Amino acid sequence: MFPAFSGRYASLPDRMRAEMAPTPVAAPRLLAFNRPLAEALGFDLDAFDATRAAEVLGGNAVPDGATPIAAAYAGHQFGNFVPQLGDGRAILLGELAHRDGGLREVQLKGAGRTPFSRGGDGRAPIGPVLREYLVSEAMAALGVPTTRTLAAVASGEQVVRQMVEPGAVLTRVASSHVRVGTFQYFAARRDSEALSLLVDFCIERHYPELADLPEAERALALVEAVVERQASLVAQWKGLGFIHGVMNTDNCAISGETIDYGPCAFMDAFHPHRVFSSIDERGRYAWDNQPAIAQWNLARLAETLLPLISDDQERAVALATEAIEAFAECHDAAWTAVLRAKLGLGADDSQGQPESRSTDGQGGALADEDLALGEDFLKAMEEGNADFTLSFAHLPLALAGDEAALAEGFERSGRLEAWLPRWRERLAREGVADEVVGARLAAANPQVIPRNHLVEKAIRAAIDDDDLSVFETLLAAVTRPYQTPDDTSLLAPPGRDERVLRTFCG
Ligand code: AMP
Ligand code: MG
Ligand code: MG
Repeated sequence: MFPAFSGRYASLPDRMRAEMAPTPVAAPRLLAFNRPLAEALGFDLDAFDATRAAEVLGGNAVPDGATPIAAAYAGHQFGNFVPQLGDGRAILLGELAHRDGGLREVQLKGAGRTPFSRGGDGRAPIGPVLREYLVSEAMAALGVPTTRTLAAVASGEQVVRQMVEPGAVLTRVASSHVRVGTFQYFAARRDSEALSLLVDFCIERHYPELADLPEAERALALVEAVVERQASLVAQWKGLGFIHGVMNTDNCAISGETIDYGPCAFMDAFHPHRVFSSIDERGRYAWDNQPAIAQWNLARLAETLLPLISDDQERAVALATEAIEAFAECHDAAWTAVLRAKLGLGADDSQGQPESRSTDGQGGALADEDLALGEDFLKAMEEGNADFTLSFAHLPLALAGDEAALAEGFERSGRLEAWLPRWRERLAREGVADEVVGARLAAANPQVIPRNHLVEKAIRAAIDDDDLSVFETLLAAVTRPYQTPDDTSLLAPPGRDERVLRTFCG
């Protein structure tokens, strides 16, 4: 049933990882298994065996070809550098070939203690595991680059967090698990050989278009490429009202995939400074702070590569600074494109062409106008304490002349009333039929997202009643986010006493 694993990351030098098998769990039981993803990874589903799947993905048996390891990395946590973090509860089994031609790493999260566990127990509670399953698969369905979830396995053991909870193991699938923190680990040890190997690894895996560059240009080109992907990633998060919650440098993937679903959340009522994470006391990772933090994280990446960027350190700093400063423009362009799509406006073809980006040129002026239009809609939502997802989802109705559903969601609608005619006027200048705009709106604005209170209900049913049907129904809905679910209660924002305002790391 399992395809054969390879061990590309495990073949890197010893000092980059610790070789070790997962610690077996008491009673592995498959809670959920992602069949479409398994198929794409070459599993033989005709021979599917739930007992075997639970054994392997619970960590009780090592599959053929796997060389299990825990990877070394460091990281800035809330701005403070920690020279050694590493996989403290995750074990990488190896890579599988995806049918898209790329490789995917398969990692068990919650697989027991490793040399990087520090004070931790190496385990994961079932709540955060089901949460990551729902949110990561929703993100994939929403078209956002992300790690995926292949399975959740109950361990039959208890773990102690705020409360005692049943334990579980999540199978995470990523195009790689190399993070900014991986580079930081070796930079802190002045290990330029390892840094150079990492550059090669990341280019080969994630940026093959850079493979032919001369040695001297590769490190800088990698930074530039990661800047582009992260700038676009954060714009996509913002466009969904998503708050990652722990954008530490060890949770910033070189691939540009969203990684580490801990205290993340999709907000209900919009506020730009919204924070959910119980440990983010100062709002460092608030919704609107995410671009600045991503850029800060990438500056930490660039720092690690200065010795490889140029022998002349002054020149290396100048080049790296320029690469990091480019984040702002990349992000503005990506964010404008996201807002445009969400408002039903067509892509601006002049975008990305530097000569037309100036505010004098048509493209630049239009981009600025559309950015302002999008951000003013957000301001109206803020003033009206309106739901982020529903407000956008109601735009097709408003377009068709029925503004009531949209306005009903606003406690104060003064700004909204001023905004709607501007939006209509801008759409009129597009000169396309309403059906076209309607189709654009429907394709860009999801109806269903994994709202906190829904995720909580699914988790409670799984823990309290051993009932996974609530999880399964929600998973089915969030993985078809642009369709109206049969159970329309999944569309509604939480009631007053259903609101979940705090999320935890797990
Ligand atoms: P995170 O905040 O999830 O990015 O985790 C930060 C660091 O703590 C990483 O090195 C994790 O491997 C480690 N860690 C998190 N939870 C545990 C745990 N239960 N046991 C051991 N290490 C952990
Ligand atoms: Mg992490
Ligand atoms: Mg985590």
